[in-house]
Amino acid sequence: MTVIAVDCDEVLCQTLDAVLAFHNFDYYGKPLTKEVMTDYYLYKIPQYNTTTPQEMLNYFAPVLEWEQHKTIKQVPGAKQKLTQRKKDGHTLKVVTWRPSKWRHSTQQRVHDNFPGLFDDVIFAEHLTHQAVPKSQLCKQIGATIMIEDNLDYCIDTAWAWITSFLLDYPWNRHYDPTIHTGISKVQRRDEISL
Ligand SMILES: [Mg+2]
Repeated sequence: MTVIAVDCDEVLCQTLDAVLAFHNFDYYGKPLTKEVMTDYYLYKIPQYNTTTPQEMLNYFAPVLEWEQHKTIKQVPGAKQKLTQRKKDGHTLKVVTWRPSKWRHSTQQRVHDNFPGLFDDVIFAEHLTHQAVPKSQLCKQIGATIMIEDNLDYCIDTAWAWITSFLLDYPWNRHYDPTIHTGISKVQRRDEISL
């Protein structure tokens, strides 16, 4: 049996769509859409580099708390594909960048949207002083596969010899197959072969 680590935002849930809509596609006074995101870390994009990691966290906060959290939709196809993986006998665990201060809302929404699918939800506490690499968390839970949309996280897990699948999004368009042979970029979930 394989333990599969599954990222939450943009792999299970269309979080950015909800966050951007909540803020009327404005990021601290500048227009922002997914298409202009050359990096998931907004403060690394030249036009937004006057902002900070804390401001990015603050930007997500209103949506990742209780009521607005319900506006986040599932990524189409995710539930169907992962349900099949579960039926095949694999164990699924969510490994998310989110800080644990959003533990209850995150766990509740994962349960509501994907009942019975995931054994656990693990928080990497990124953008906080308690941040833990996803590679370390994957090792702790015995995960040998990671499904992710953030190239930086894939590089981290691939170097820990965790087979890493990178779902195609605007912010990982700078992916290069020579970065690491352990990373497979996929356009669709059908391309993920275990
Ligand atoms: Mg993500």
